[in-house]
Amino acid sequence: MAKQKKLPLQRFMEKTKEDDKGCWIWTGAKDGSGYGKFKGHEKVMTPHKFSYEEHKQSKVPIGKIIKHTCDQPLCVNPAHLELGTYSENAKERWARTGSKLPPEEVIARAIIKALPEVKNEQIKTALASLGLSPKSLPD
Ligand SMILES: [Zn+2]
Repeated sequence: MAKQKKLPLQRFMEKTKEDDKGCWIWTGAKDGSGYGKFKGHEKVMTPHKFSYEEHKQSKVPIGKIIKHTCDQPLCVNPAHLELGTYSENAKERWARTGSKLPPEEVIARAIIKALPEVKNEQIKTALASLGLSPKSLPD
């Protein structure tokens, strides 16, 4: 009897585990940054992107990202995934953590700390392309 080839979605679901918050936690392969990776059809992508595209039957448009409404990066439950932009994602994530600092300030400071050789002007330009404008950065 020939072994039947599993559908990508079937293989995918076998690598998830539901937690007590209803999140489907990815238990498959992970890349260096702690996010998962999954080879669905022909290319490798993040599991949450695969889950979104497969369950909603629609592609993620260029320039858009998938946000986790549950703030769990390894969650692949399509009910917890929605389309958004990078700046929305940064702002919302920051709002949820309850920080008093606006996200652009936090990002700017993180860049300065990680890459001290980068000029403030370059950081401003990069953040501006995401629709963020840190006010505290000196020129
Ligand atoms: Zn979730």
